[in-house]
Amino acid sequence: MFPLNKPFSARHAPALPPQPRLCIAAIALLAVMVLGTALSLTASYHDTLRQEQNNLRNLATAFSAQTASAAYALDRLLDNAREDYLESTARAASGDSQRPAMRLPPLPRDVLGISLLDQDGHLLAGSPLPPDMPANTVPGPDDTLAITISGIDAASGRGILTLGRPLLDDSGKRIGAMVARIDSVYFVNLYAQVALGDGGSITLMHADGTMLARGPAAAGVVGRSFAGTPLFQSQLPVSAFGTFEAISPTHGVRRIYGYSKVRSYPLVMIAGMDKEDALAFWHERVAIAAGLLGLATLSLCVMAWRISRDAARRSALIERLGASEARLARSADYLGSILGAIASPVYVLNSQRRFVLVNDAYCRFAGKRREELLGRLEQETPDAHGAGEREQTYARVLAGGGDMVDETEVVDSAGQMRTFISTTSRLISDTGEAQIVCVRTDISERKMAEVRLAYLADFDLPTELPNQARFLRTLDAEIHAAGGGECVGVMALSLERLQEIIDLMGHAAGDTVLRQAAQLLRQAAPDASVARTMGNQFALSIRCDGERGSLAALAARLHGALSDAVAVGQRDFYLGPAIGIASFPDDGSAAGELLRRADVARHRAAGEGQDAVQFFSESSHLVLDERLAMESQLRQALQRGELRLAYQPKVDIPSGRITGFEALLRWTSPVLGEVPPTRFIPIAEASGAIVSIGAWVVAEACRHMRAWQDSLGRQVKVAVNLSPRQFQRDALIPMLRQCLAANSIAPGSLELEITESTVMASHEDIDVLLQDIRSLGVDIAIDDFGTGYSSLAYLKRLPAQCLKIDRAFIRDLGHDEESLAIVRTIVNLCQGLKMTVVAEGVETPRQLELLRELGCHAYQGFLFSRPLEAEAVLSLLRAQDAGDAPAGSSAPEANAING
Ligand code: C2E
Ligand code: CA
Ligand code: CA
Repeated sequence: MFPLNKPFSARHAPALPPQPRLCIAAIALLAVMVLGTALSLTASYHDTLRQEQNNLRNLATAFSAQTASAAYALDRLLDNAREDYLESTARAASGDSQRPAMRLPPLPRDVLGISLLDQDGHLLAGSPLPPDMPANTVPGPDDTLAITISGIDAASGRGILTLGRPLLDDSGKRIGAMVARIDSVYFVNLYAQVALGDGGSITLMHADGTMLARGPAAAGVVGRSFAGTPLFQSQLPVSAFGTFEAISPTHGVRRIYGYSKVRSYPLVMIAGMDKEDALAFWHERVAIAAGLLGLATLSLCVMAWRISRDAARRSALIERLGASEARLARSADYLGSILGAIASPVYVLNSQRRFVLVNDAYCRFAGKRREELLGRLEQETPDAHGAGEREQTYARVLAGGGDMVDETEVVDSAGQMRTFISTTSRLISDTGEAQIVCVRTDISERKMAEVRLAYLADFDLPTELPNQARFLRTLDAEIHAAGGGECVGVMALSLERLQEIIDLMGHAAGDTVLRQAAQLLRQAAPDASVARTMGNQFALSIRCDGERGSLAALAARLHGALSDAVAVGQRDFYLGPAIGIASFPDDGSAAGELLRRADVARHRAAGEGQDAVQFFSESSHLVLDERLAMESQLRQALQRGELRLAYQPKVDIPSGRITGFEALLRWTSPVLGEVPPTRFIPIAEASGAIVSIGAWVVAEACRHMRAWQDSLGRQVKVAVNLSPRQFQRDALIPMLRQCLAANSIAPGSLELEITESTVMASHEDIDVLLQDIRSLGVDIAIDDFGTGYSSLAYLKRLPAQCLKIDRAFIRDLGHDEESLAIVRTIVNLCQGLKMTVVAEGVETPRQLELLRELGCHAYQGFLFSRPLEAEAVLSLLRAQDAGDAPAGSSAPEANAING
């Protein structure tokens, strides 16, 4: 009902969660770093290698130059020795014996000896060659130089290098050979000056691939031929210096080398080192780079972790914020529903008295939609009137006057004035503004009900006339106001036949009749105070001159006005008015007493054979006293055993045999004597005593039936009269069931007589009740048929087996054609409906004859028998069973009672 903010999360949520994006970025950055480092390391690897190889090559070149110098120095030694030799030989040839023979110059260290040999290898001069010197030590006839190695020490690799040259005479003719023998250390020492690291080596090779010397010394390789290696196979033939890479022949690891041919000698210098050593610096760089990379990765990871943690916190915060907003929205919804469910109008005004909140009930009250109200000034609503007073209330409440509760009258959207209890309170909004909250409780209904109740306390609803209480108050006032010599007349008026109309047409019709009667009374007595005192009774009071005549004239006028037929629906009814009159001061001086006395007179007027207007007199007072006395006597009659049943036979017309009896109540009062049922039964009905008396009648009838049945050995059917007051399903059905069961009465032996007017009373439950009675197996007879207003068609609906034509029609049979026609119609109808017709009150043979002709089934009446005492029933039945009961003859008069 209230506009809701969208949850925060929905407005601010990122498109992608932050963690995956961050991860991807970090990984990409790392990859770039790793790739860059790898590329740069690769480049530096190759650079390092190239540089080291160049260094080695340069070293080899430098050493080759040194070696060439050393070899040249040896050549110089040999040349000197030749020259000395040739000189000494020339001197010898010239006979200069004064000159000393040839002497060799002192030899440098590590030069083991110099030998001059003749063509046959014999020593000409110098130191003799060791005997195991190999043959190739000396150059062949075509050779100019022979370099060999021999005498190698396997452990140290130290050997003897020989440098052989042809010995030429001065003419250049070969006369022998010269050999210089040198310890290989001579060369190795040259190289030892250079530190090449642990794996570094300088090797002197013969151009034919033979290793001549190595520094540092290494076992097993000096003297070995490496002619098959790529260096000798492919590199040296092409380039005098260069680099290469190979597995070391000495310790089998990969090494890099630089080489250089020795100028003028068949020698090659090779400088080598372990590739690992060469790359040591590079490895350091790799380690540093790896370290840096690791560090970078670590810091990147830390950074990424922190960012992602922050992001996660942020999104958790957003989620919490969103959830709390959603909660807020929900509680606003909840609050909205509660406010919506409140039936009382509720509104909130801001400091400018503009609506900031209204509930559904207020919208309904104002007849406007919420959107039309919110933001509008309160004075602009339909209930503009009273705005000034409301403003005062608001101001007082805002000024700290606490809650204010007041009753206000407000015009709603339909323009109706409504009464509200308004509770006005102060409210501080979330922005700190002081607002007004007002809850209105509509008490219009209550107000109206109060007015209505006040009205009902004094007035009668259907007629809108004052009721008895108000009438008595008014009368009291009139009596007080009446001065000396003045008189107040009081009339009690009843509509004696109203009940019939209500029974037949229902209560609504009864109310219509009452209204019409009230109207007639007001018209006929415009100066009188008219009231409806109860049920079918009215009362009037009027000032009079003290003469009976004027009151009598007024009463006659009223009686006349109410005696005409009144139309209800399509039918005319008679109200049967009865009027009793009492007057102040003759008949009493109190309002209540006067009304009571007028009522006593009215009773007498309503009684049989009386005039319909009666003045109060002491004698009519006595009639009422008698009635009250009878009522109190009747209350005790049952306990005292003053009641008994008489039985009047029902006789089958064709056969003249008794088919059953009607039970009729008899009362012999010790005070009042024999009281006829027509007098005491209405009183028993009025007082409600009929219910227990009626139950006793059924029980008593059943008891007799049982006794007769036991005596005769056959069933005897008995009909019992039922008063309308006994038509209470909850009481009647169990009572009947109990009586039947207690006396084991066969179904169909008991019959209930119900008057037509009782059946016709617009009492819906009667159908159900009649069905219930039928389902007990008890028969139903419609009594006094023809006196009520029932349509004959209605009979079809009733589950009755028997119909009793009222005595009034039978009485006139033989003198009155109309009665005959009515009886004929009833008999025909019952034949069609398969109902038994019984004629009541048959007193003459002529009546019986006519009934027989009309086809009536059975009859009851003094003609056959008056109601009999229970004992007489048995003897009558016995006589009939014995076959001596004469049809149509009277039963013994001695047994008849109250005929
Ligand atoms: P009702 O049901 O119509 O009973 C028949 C009345 O007609 C009886 O009067 C009976 O004595 C009388 N009657 C019978 N044959 C003739 C005849 O040939 N001529 C004349 N003139 N009258 C005859 P009773 O016994 O005085 O009863 C009067 C009414 O009292 C009954 O009228 C019935 O409505 C009522 N009543 C009697 N006993 C009971 C009862 O136990 N319960 C109830 N609720 N009402 C009863
Ligand atoms: Ca009857
Ligand atoms: Ca009857």
